[in-house]
Amino acid sequence: MTERRAGGDARIGFDASWYYATARGVADHPALAQSVDVDVCVVGAGYTGLSAAIELGERGYRVVVLEAHRVGSGASGRNGGVLGTGQRKDQDELERWLGEDAARQMWQIAVDANNLVRDRVQRFAIDCDLKDGELTVAHKARHEASLWRYVEHLQTNYGDNTKRVVSRDEVRDMLGVESYFGGYVDSHAGHIHPLNLALGLARAATELGATIYEASPALGYRSTPDGVTVRTEAGEVRAKYLVIACNGYLGRFERGMERYQMPINNFVLATEPLGEARARGINRDDLAVVDTRFVVNYFHNSPDHRLIFGGGENYSSRFPKDMKAFVRRHMLEVYPQLEDVAIEYAWGGTLAITMRRMPHFGRRNEQVYWAQGYSGHGIAMANMGGKLVAEAIAGQAERFDLFANLKHLPFPGGRLLRWPALVAGMLYYSMLDRF
Ligand SMILES: Cc1cc2nc3c(=O)[nH]c(=O)nc-3n(C[C@H](O)[C@H](O)[C@H](O)COP(=O)(O)OP(=O)(O)OC[C@H]3O[C@@H](n4cnc5c(N)ncnc54)[C@H](O)[C@@H]3O)c2cc1C
Repeated sequence: MTERRAGGDARIGFDASWYYATARGVADHPALAQSVDVDVCVVGAGYTGLSAAIELGERGYRVVVLEAHRVGSGASGRNGGVLGTGQRKDQDELERWLGEDAARQMWQIAVDANNLVRDRVQRFAIDCDLKDGELTVAHKARHEASLWRYVEHLQTNYGDNTKRVVSRDEVRDMLGVESYFGGYVDSHAGHIHPLNLALGLARAATELGATIYEASPALGYRSTPDGVTVRTEAGEVRAKYLVIACNGYLGRFERGMERYQMPINNFVLATEPLGEARARGINRDDLAVVDTRFVVNYFHNSPDHRLIFGGGENYSSRFPKDMKAFVRRHMLEVYPQLEDVAIEYAWGGTLAITMRRMPHFGRRNEQVYWAQGYSGHGIAMANMGGKLVAEAIAGQAERFDLFANLKHLPFPGGRLLRWPALVAGMLYYSMLDRF
């Protein structure tokens, strides 16, 4: 019996997205065809890898980034564009799990992660349509009060004044729909064009001295007395350090990481342009919107007044044949009034979740580091993941170790059974969304 794996090939459907159609500053990077000696070899050119390259470049390390396909062709160039605040796991849960001090440190790192993206957008002049404001809405009446309680918890215990609660009536005015209850608006979260962010980070990394090789899958690596040697089809990189930044596209590259993450496919569409008035009618303030479903719906408007809508996932080795129809179904549950609207683009991507929905950072030894498992909350935290790996390599591992010391659970079931076990669990919870 072979284990079934989700998506995981960054070549599939990368050019099908509205992001790809509106990409700015695409640069071609050659494939590796020789032997190179550097300080650090980074595998994967998504936010994690590019962020590590930026931080290491700034510190004077010689860096090579190996990318199997194209810069941003993984989740970083395909995601829903919601720049969140906080960790994927709520603070009250983190407090119960880790105690107040560690939970507080996690909160601060998440705040710093959001600011890191904002700083980079500004500092490197990355043209990625960053827009402030995220609305979190309850899709069931009983979720409304817990969202409001959470806002109060953050205000009281973390001095967080970036959120204001909104009633069901206000949500109706904001989104033009009856399907949601109340929630809250977070002024420090927002939305971005994710691929343009990735392309901007790649430009910054190369300006800081990193060399990126595309179409250069790392086939494997071996430890040497001086570090590691990473092999590609036509070349090799000899480095003192290796950073594994493959997230949902990891495959079998590093066995020690594999059992702590599960790749999952998630899907997004872009409608035809709706015109400004209609676009405002479904999202008055042009916020990023996320709901409380287990399989979350997330959406916002594009600058040319399309609805960008993410909804639905699968756990199979393939994307659905008709992705437009697959996501449209979820879109119409939220916005039945868009029945007549054409869907111009639909695409999927692969993310990695962990059992405890917190990022999984670690090291095999003093030479080999990784950061993965952002559990669908990676725009800010993958940027931070790369930064913390770089800090650790440079000898300041305190923040990296906060994550590396988390007691992550491997997915149950062993190699053969963990995949069916995950699928059964995910389908069960996604079914609860409907009742
Ligand atoms: C559809 C979708 C919607 C999402 N929405 C949001 C959202 O709205 N907000 C949010 O915060 N997060 C969201 N996420 C999650 C977020 O996109 C990810 O957490 C983040 O992009 C992870 O970045 P990364 O660099 O670690 O991984 P990736 O961007 O996936 O990059 C990994 C890279 O590694 C490369 N690679 C893999 N193996 C090799 C190898 N052997 N050799 C060379 N290269 C290799 C891949 O080709 C890929 O380019 C979403 C994810 C998806 C898929």
